Formats: sequence, structure tokens, C-alpha cells
Amino acid sequence: MGGFASLHAMLQTTGLSRLARRKSFQCLHKYEVKDWTPEENARTFGACFTPNGHGHNYELEAYFEGPLDPVTGMIMNLVDVDRLLAETIAPVNGKHLNYEVAKFHDQVPTTENLAAYLFERLKVRLTASGVRDVSVARLRLYESENLWVDVWP
Ligand SMILES: [Zn+2]
Repeated sequence: MGGFASLHAMLQTTGLSRLARRKSFQCLHKYEVKDWTPEENARTFGACFTPNGHGHNYELEAYFEGPLDPVTGMIMNLVDVDRLLAETIAPVNGKHLNYEVAKFHDQVPTTENLAAYLFERLKVRLTASGVRDVSVARLRLYESENLWVDVWP
């Protein structure tokens, strides 16, 4: 009996799990390398090179990895997860990335670059939050239902 109880306790406290949370937001962007001619940009970026850009409904998925708290049964409190995700997307949500977000003044706001930007922001926010023993195992950013980018440490 005691053996089962202590094995149960060990399994609860030594394994790692991942918690995933999805968050929607919108951005505008255009793909353009400023040093290139319009012809070079059109050849490389096709429909993504447009005079004023276009919008997407993005879906962010964040995966948090850590041990289960033996008391709460959680990796991380969902209140903290939602606050971190809101803080992570705040500078880009509803914005034209090329014009309103300094990071993308000189960097093409591809799904890859946006995912990397959000991943770094989320990592910094998580560290600053004081939540311990939890890491961002993966961030997945959907630009559409059949196009997405994964970033992981
Ligand atoms: Zn686009």
C-alpha cells in the first residue's frame, strides 16, 4: 500500500507535462525588402508584395512545459498563461507590422519572423513573471489554417 502511494506521489511530481493555450489576433503586413526594386520584390514575394499590405487572422499556440504542482495539479495557472499571452501579442495586435512595430521597420514580417518575435517576447515575459520551473517548449503561429510556423528553444 505504502509503495503504491509513494510511487503515485513520485509520478505526480517528477514527470513533465505540456500545457497548450491558443490565442487569436489580427495584423496587417506587406512583404518588402526596402533595398530591392519593385520588380525584385514582386518576383520574390508575389501576392504578398502589395502597396499597402493585407491582413491576417493569426492563431498563436503556446506550449508550456514543467512539473505538475502536487497541490494544484497544474503546470501553470491559466490566469498567468492568459496574462502572458495578452502581454506577448499586445504590441502587434491590430497593427500594421511594417509601420507600427519597430522590429519590422527593417525586417520582413513573415510568419517566421513574427513567430520568432513572439517567442522571444513570451520567454522574457515568462521569466519576468516569476513563475518558476516552467519553460516555453514551443510556440506555433498559424497565419492561416494551412500555413504555420513552429519555434522552440
Ligand atoms: Zn500575408
